[in-house]
Amino acid sequence: MKKSLLAQVYDPESFREQGHALIDQLADHLLENLGEKGGRAIAYRHPDTELAFWRSFMEDGKKEQLFPEILEGATKLHHPQCIGHQVAPPAPITALTAMIGGLLNNGMAIYEMGMSPTAMERVVTEVLCEKIGYQGHPGGFLTSGGTLANLTALLTARRVMLPEDVWNLGHGRPLGIMVSEEAHYCVDRAAKIMGLGEKGIIKVPTQANYAMDNALLEEQYRTATEAGIHVFAIIGSAPCTATGAFDDLEGIATFAAQKKLWFHVDGAHGGATIFSEKYRPLLKGIEKADSVIMDGHKMMMMPTITTALLYKNGDHAKLTFRQKADYLLSQSDRGDWYNAGKKTFECTKTMMSVHWYTLLKYYGTDAFNAYVTQLYDQGAAFAEMIGAHPKLELAVRPMCNIVCFRYVDQTLSGKAQNKQNETLRQALLENGEFYVVQTKLRGVHYLRITVMNPFTTKDHMAKLLHKIENMALAL
Ligand SMILES: *Cc1c(COP(=O)(O)O)cnc(C)c1O
Repeated sequence: MKKSLLAQVYDPESFREQGHALIDQLADHLLENLGEKGGRAIAYRHPDTELAFWRSFMEDGKKEQLFPEILEGATKLHHPQCIGHQVAPPAPITALTAMIGGLLNNGMAIYEMGMSPTAMERVVTEVLCEKIGYQGHPGGFLTSGGTLANLTALLTARRVMLPEDVWNLGHGRPLGIMVSEEAHYCVDRAAKIMGLGEKGIIKVPTQANYAMDNALLEEQYRTATEAGIHVFAIIGSAPCTATGAFDDLEGIATFAAQKKLWFHVDGAHGGATIFSEKYRPLLKGIEKADSVIMDGHKMMMMPTITTALLYKNGDHAKLTFRQKADYLLSQSDRGDWYNAGKKTFECTKTMMSVHWYTLLKYYGTDAFNAYVTQLYDQGAAFAEMIGAHPKLELAVRPMCNIVCFRYVDQTLSGKAQNKQNETLRQALLENGEFYVVQTKLRGVHYLRITVMNPFTTKDHMAKLLHKIENMALAL
């Protein structure tokens, strides 16, 4: 008798068969890309071409070809010449943990929906709080991405720092936050969602090295206050996205303490630097932050999307989404650490703690130390090669694994130089041997790389620089 459609959907034996086949395909994908036998870092197709392909595949593509086609068309994050955005090539074991989460679907809004991931999450956040250097009763949780984590932290800040109950009553006076002009756009978005408006986002100018200019904090604060804005939080970027510049967190902490502001650290990219013995000093002062975020899917080798939000005072985590404005937590509240949905923006969320816990259990914090240190070292090494090249120019000496640079043809005007670098980047994309991105800094167009793969070497970099030079000459 033929199985019903739903019995087919849930058939354990087809799962076993498809699973084994898929693992083989993924392992080959890893072998090919890590070993550079698989060709290009990105096989770029125009969005309309891609759309046409998938429309027609839905009509007459072979089922067996579906997964191979997805692999084929992917941007190959494990390829050492894929040095574009800040997304990690995941440690393969986290693809397995993703599969566990995918099948078990233990959603974690309340404890019984995901008992082990809830407890694992507590263990993981305790490790992170300890590494940050928090004392007392720190705490935190995992949530879906840096964007959401920053918003959540700012909502907590508003709750804790203001005497009025904005959550229930709305705000009757203009509120503001201070942040570097180079901060990630999601901070701007969070502030807008919170109704702070354009004037509630006090954008502090940066120094020549793109870190927030702390010398301007006092004046910026005064101007805002005189304009009737009540500033309640300040954000340090660790680092900012475009250039990878780390703000001086220690200095921001001092300012925040003076003015009684909530101090939040956006460590989406560089929060993981707490694990690097060598680069940890970049985060000096982070232990003074009221809240810190870090993305597992950036500098911690995990799949998209998983972010930790940690609080110096763990009790604050519970206040954010409280329906009642009762600020004092009872003992029983402190005991109730396990109903995640009370603290997170999400109701159902994925079993993301399993990735973190598994990496820590299998490889320990040493793996994060090795990963972050290797990538930052490579950032510095590549910057040195760029700096030594007669035709290339760095935007700034990088502090981590994000490097911005450009090709300079002295015979061209500034505008034409911008155009040339834009054209170069498009040519690189269409060629696909390397995946490199771009950014505009203070009106100048730069190529931008982020070394995310620990197996990207100076040879790869030399090849890229050579290619850029040849392309520029051919233009
Ligand atoms: C990437 C990034 C974000 C956004 O995080 P997502 O996980 O992509 O939502 C926020 N801030 C900084 C500094 C980042 O680099």
